[in-house]
Amino acid sequence: MNIILLGPPGCGKGTQGELLAQRTGILRVSTGDLLRQAVAGGTDLGKRAKVFMDQGLLVPDDVIIGLLGEVLASPRAAGGVIMDGFPRTVAQAEAVDRLLAARGRQVDRVLFFAVADEELLRRIEGRAAVEGRADDHPDAFRQRLVVYRKQTQP
Ligand code: ADP
Repeated sequence: MNIILLGPPGCGKGTQGELLAQRTGILRVSTGDLLRQAVAGGTDLGKRAKVFMDQGLLVPDDVIIGLLGEVLASPRAAGGVIMDGFPRTVAQAEAVDRLLAARGRQVDRVLFFAVADEELLRRIEGRAAVEGRADDHPDAFRQRLVVYRKQTQP
């Protein structure tokens, strides 16, 4: 089963995706987590991605699509994946279909998390206090919302 979690930043995709993964045993893939690991590890990919992430901008499609391609090719993904934070652009959405079709698979379910902006801002302030993520400060967060409306919503 291949499941996509869609929704604005801070809507709770990560939290619900984790619960869904625990209950179903399906591998959860968070592109945000993969990128943060790459940044922490100081890899080339991490260095390239950090510049965009810190500003609340999307990391270029080729980087992200390559990353997801690697995950889908791994044996752990044989039972399908829960995609959290991917796709985020129309090009990425087309790539999902392509990557899955190449394995005789398809997108089986899409869950959309509808949350009002003021509620998102409230949650993100709480998360910033707990996790201290560089891109959760108000300016970067507002930027991420703008990017979501412009690039992901389509
Ligand atoms: P949130 O859902 O709270 O915005 P994520 O952890 O999903 O947080 O993403 C954090 C950052 O990682 C994004 O702002 C972006 O810079 C980068 N990122 C994550 N997933 C993608 C993606 N699919 N395409 C481009 N950039 C991404």
